[in-house]
Amino acid sequence: MRSLYGKFIAMTAVIMIASALIAFLAVNTYYHQQLKGQNDEKNMSIAKSIASFIESDKELDLINYFETQSAVGYKLYVVNEQQEVTMYGEAFREENLSSKVIDRVLNGDVYHGMRDLPSETFVTGFFSNELANTVGVPFKFNGETYALFLRPDIKMLFTEVHYILGGMVLIMAVFSLLAMLIVAKMLIDPITELTAATKEVGEEKFARTLDINRRDEIGQLAKSFQLMTKKLSENDRIRKEFISDVSHDFQSPLLNIKGYAELLLDDKLTEDSRKNYATVIQSETERLSSLTKQLLLLTSLDQLSSPLEKRTFELDKQLKEIVRKYRWLLEEKEMTLEMDIEEVRFTGDPAFLEKVWENLLTNALKYTEIGGTIEVVLTEQSDQVKVIVKDNGIGIDEEELKRIFDRFYRADDSRTQETGGTGLGLSIVQQVVKLHGGTIDVVSQKGQGTTFTVVFPKL
Ligand code: ADP
Repeated sequence: MRSLYGKFIAMTAVIMIASALIAFLAVNTYYHQQLKGQNDEKNMSIAKSIASFIESDKELDLINYFETQSAVGYKLYVVNEQQEVTMYGEAFREENLSSKVIDRVLNGDVYHGMRDLPSETFVTGFFSNELANTVGVPFKFNGETYALFLRPDIKMLFTEVHYILGGMVLIMAVFSLLAMLIVAKMLIDPITELTAATKEVGEEKFARTLDINRRDEIGQLAKSFQLMTKKLSENDRIRKEFISDVSHDFQSPLLNIKGYAELLLDDKLTEDSRKNYATVIQSETERLSSLTKQLLLLTSLDQLSSPLEKRTFELDKQLKEIVRKYRWLLEEKEMTLEMDIEEVRFTGDPAFLEKVWENLLTNALKYTEIGGTIEVVLTEQSDQVKVIVKDNGIGIDEEELKRIFDRFYRADDSRTQETGGTGLGLSIVQQVVKLHGGTIDVVSQKGQGTTFTVVFPKL
């Protein structure tokens, strides 16, 4: 695997080389387009002043004078009428001046070699150390005509500048690479930490807290990761709790069944006891059966894709039908039922919603004493459909209220044990209401009664 560090450094080096190349090409093009003429003019005026100085001083030691000029930073190429050449200063890389040009200068013309240098992007202009890249002027000395070609000796003029510029570029390059290493480390370290944390989460270890305090994208990623870990750890806890609750809730009826079945094997058992034991076994089996059904229902509700099969139906009729189903229980407990049901057509899954009303109504029946009152209300407003199931039963205290929607939660076990509840009913109710985009609220007071309010938004 190629590390990100390596990639960062390689990319930086490539970018630096590429930008140096582009900068050189841009500057060279600028020289060819703009500066070449000015440079030629400047050197031409120097050459002309040298020529006129020579011509004005008959006593001049010409060789000495040229040597002095070359010492101050010029390369001079002097040709006399016999085409004899004398060079002062560093040699040219290439002596590519045609004899035609030399003759023209000897005949009194000037030569603008710097200005007329061909403009080629990849050929250096200013630095091009060739004889063609000079300016040429004629001069007369002691009755003889000469042609003088000159250009600045870049090496001499720019040695220090070269060192300074070169040093600057080198330091910049080294510094940029080092800085890039530090920046890369700052960027990559949290990613490495995140990778390690991801591995741990993969092994179901959720304890690690990330030491990443940044406000950029990596910080956001770390924050989302931590939120995700928290959620996963919470789910993991719920799953483990759920499994232990399920095992416990299956274990106790099974133990009862086993115990009573053993007792039934006793030959000396009276008819009454036998009937009693068989009844217990029957009710425990029913309990196991309803527990299994509710668990299957909850599992189907937990699926990622919605299990709902929605259609539009008459909600008022459904509610009335459920109330009718439990009328015998109402009568048995001598309870009063008040109904205020409007005609409402509603779009949802009737089978799942039936479970909701059934759970709320049976809970109201279970947890209200003989002679109590239950109220069922269905109203439709412009934007919502509301169902209220209210009882004046035993009520739920504040602490219990927080947990009644939890799976397997039964407030005050000893009290509810005899009701045969599983503690799954309200979780199913809540899940179905949520899947329909609705909300469920509960208001209750110990000893006063409980009101469940289900609200569905109208689409
Ligand atoms: P259960 O099968 O035990 O009824 P639920 O999930 O339906 O399970 O309810 C959870 C707990 O909430 C019940 O055990 C009960 O203590 C409490 N509860 C639910 N409805 C009522 C109510 N109408 N009045 C009083 N307590 C209630």
